[in-house]
Amino acid sequence: MSEYQIHVIDVKNNLQNYIWLLEHTTTHDVVVIDPTESQLVFDYCQQHQLNICQVWLTHWHKDHIGGVPDLLAKYPHLPVYGPRDELSKIPFISHPVHDEQTFSFHELEIEVIAVPGHTLGHIIYYTDFLESAFVGDCLFAMGCGRVFEGTYQQMFHSLNRIAALPEHTKLYCAHEYSLSNAKFALSIEPHNVALQERAEHIEYLRYLDKITLPTTIAEELETNPFLRAESHEEFARIRKLKDTA
Ligand code: ZN
Ligand code: FE
Repeated sequence: MSEYQIHVIDVKNNLQNYIWLLEHTTTHDVVVIDPTESQLVFDYCQQHQLNICQVWLTHWHKDHIGGVPDLLAKYPHLPVYGPRDELSKIPFISHPVHDEQTFSFHELEIEVIAVPGHTLGHIIYYTDFLESAFVGDCLFAMGCGRVFEGTYQQMFHSLNRIAALPEHTKLYCAHEYSLSNAKFALSIEPHNVALQERAEHIEYLRYLDKITLPTTIAEELETNPFLRAESHEEFARIRKLKDTA
């Protein structure tokens, strides 16, 4: 991790988005992941003297791509990576990528993993060197994204692909939904001690107005009811309960 540093911008919008930044620390080159808007990114990068070098998009929703047109207006040649399967919805992608494709940022090899469900083309970005994945709206701490476009079976499979990454992998989610997710998770598994403890800790962090991310695969395997579901039918039942909660 010495040559790289991950930063976060708290957008403080209604949807509680986070914009993650991955910096190569010797050059101060930086990747911007899912820029909700541009001004916060420009301000942050100016303040920390970061050179915006790449943009990575996980899916087409406005709160993940809203800042890209302004970034491109300022840096017309900025490489924008995003899901090939959502090109029609994100026309400014310059580098369309798909499942199992790899590309690089400095010495890092980035692997693209397709996780359809929230949207049909949703992808995540994984680097084994940093033991990190940028997971957009597929998985949240103790929760997961709503199934808008895919099937419950697809979404369950996508979550399991994330769960199959090494246990200590850090997951950088795009929203601060941990507190409400913890409450819902407790309603599903009231006797899960790891979950009880985690919920308490999250409540304390939020009370201090602190970020609760990243999470890890190991923590999610212990506390995330959507990952812990034993079948896609059980997953669908829990997801529908959450949608109407
Ligand atoms: Zn979304
Ligand atoms: Fe989102």
